[in-house]
Amino acid sequence: MSQEIIGLEPLGKGAYLMSLVHKKRIFYIMLALTVVLLILMIRLGYLQFTANGNYGTQGGHSVSEMAVRQRRKGIELDPGRGQFTDNQGRKLTGKVIWTPILFPVSLMPEKRDMSRLAALLQTTPDKLAREWADIKQPTPWQDSESGEPLQFSPSNLVALSHLKVRGIEALPIVKRYTPGFSGSQWLGYVSEQPDTIKGLHPTRSMSLHPLPLNLKVGGAGLERTFDYFLRSGEATEAYVAVDGNKRPIEQIGARITGPDSPYFPLQIKTTINKDIQRSVEKLTEQSKLAEGAVVVLDVKNGDVVAMVSRPFYDPEHIDLQGGQWSNRAVKASVPGSIFKTVIAAAALESKAADPQEQFICKGDYGKYHLSCWKPEGHGPITFEQGYVNSCNTVFAALGERLTAFQIEETAHRMGIGRSIGWQEKEFLGVPDIKQIDQEEAGTVFGTKGASLDSGVRAQTAIGQRDVLMTPLQAANLVVTLLHDGTVLAPRLVSEIRYANGSLLATLPPHTAASPEGRISPRTARTLIGWMREVVTEGTGRLLRDHVWELAGKSGTAQVIRNGQKLNDQWFIGYGPVGKPKYAAAVLVQSKKPGAKHQATELFYELMDILAKKLA
Ligand SMILES: [Zn+2]
Repeated sequence: MSQEIIGLEPLGKGAYLMSLVHKKRIFYIMLALTVVLLILMIRLGYLQFTANGNYGTQGGHSVSEMAVRQRRKGIELDPGRGQFTDNQGRKLTGKVIWTPILFPVSLMPEKRDMSRLAALLQTTPDKLAREWADIKQPTPWQDSESGEPLQFSPSNLVALSHLKVRGIEALPIVKRYTPGFSGSQWLGYVSEQPDTIKGLHPTRSMSLHPLPLNLKVGGAGLERTFDYFLRSGEATEAYVAVDGNKRPIEQIGARITGPDSPYFPLQIKTTINKDIQRSVEKLTEQSKLAEGAVVVLDVKNGDVVAMVSRPFYDPEHIDLQGGQWSNRAVKASVPGSIFKTVIAAAALESKAADPQEQFICKGDYGKYHLSCWKPEGHGPITFEQGYVNSCNTVFAALGERLTAFQIEETAHRMGIGRSIGWQEKEFLGVPDIKQIDQEEAGTVFGTKGASLDSGVRAQTAIGQRDVLMTPLQAANLVVTLLHDGTVLAPRLVSEIRYANGSLLATLPPHTAASPEGRISPRTARTLIGWMREVVTEGTGRLLRDHVWELAGKSGTAQVIRNGQKLNDQWFIGYGPVGKPKYAAAVLVQSKKPGAKHQATELFYELMDILAKKLA
């Protein structure tokens, strides 16, 4: 036990944590020790059963064992990196698969055993014998189709143990990521970064042991933000001892070493709901969303429940140039008409217009190359109806009326044009913890000193020109309105726990207040009412027949990509009305002008997923 407590000291908060361990965690320590003992007993029992006592675990190391450790050939079963769980404690990383591992042998099994074994390994006896003879160190048997380690079912495990063949063992290998492509870019990836490890100050490592230079560390996302906490464990390894000529010493047999601390590695609990995340990923795949993002926030506290970015990335095979690993949910895009929510708030707050003030929309605005999306115009239309029907004429006029300062200040008050993700200047000794890696702040106007004349303000007011907003900010804008104007800081991580499950620290929800203040509850409630009208009688009528009463705002932004005129479509909103549970933003990028509004359709199907989840 003393070893674990010493191991906490590099934290820099050692004294604090030690008192926690002493005063509050005695019960957990005893429980953890019991669990660890139980696991060791089961593992020992299993290995002895399968290997007739030739195999064993190695906890403390005697001098002769240390000598053997100098000369060994091993395979890593688990790098000992901490894992992520979802908001229910379900594993997001670190799936355990049982896989057959071949050890070097001087004698192959007899012919009959060999053919049975080959059948289990889904190969031929000849191929097995050929590959086995070449093995110089423990090697997982690979699935010939996928090239991944072959995964054994429980019946395979039983069949292998009945064979009683020497030199092959089914052992648990920890796979960090679910194989294949994923839209969970917020999770990030790990990669070998020897320079990072060389540059680490000794106190910047929580590990009890020196970090190997080939250790994989976080390259992006939560893997990077929480790397310090994740690289706190020790690897589990299966190995064979070799003699001076590097031949395996079969009398010693294969061995397993593993961590001996019940506390490390640490586990990170996220705010993500695994079911919802998977369902939304599937939705974006089935609807053939090529580029874009979906963000789902818990209205109660702004927690990220699901966050999907298209195209998907493969966390096991990162192509840095390809950019699929980059999270579009936190990259700033042209918002189009969803930005009218900010302009409406600015106009209401400054009393630049009364909701019932009448405007005339003729289609063409007559200046600044501006026109309404409705070519023939909306005719006489009020400010309120202008929001509900997304009339550009009304909002261009409001933009001219407002000052640039009013527009920018209101945006900041609503969490736009600045980063909002959960962050702390210092957390458990780690400086500048930002939960949302790569989060962009976006902009309202262009670079400082640029012209802010009425034309610029009119274009800004319809969400064009230099306005940029992330899907995360867009979804959080809805949460802000539902909280009477208080901006919450979206979280991805809620807790850090010890390996034994006891709590190390919570990362409690907090606000992302602006020094420029906040909008009034009255304005927030007015806009929430207007968002409902968008669905009942405005541009979101497609959502009228949903099982939930929905509310929101659509947007279509004109962008130029690779010299091509394209549209980015948005829908932001929440459901169900009256008892709001989830707020969401859907961004569909690079659609041909005139294409149907896929973002509204996706929002409908997204709310279906969420409604079924709560049913
Ligand atoms: Zn209009």
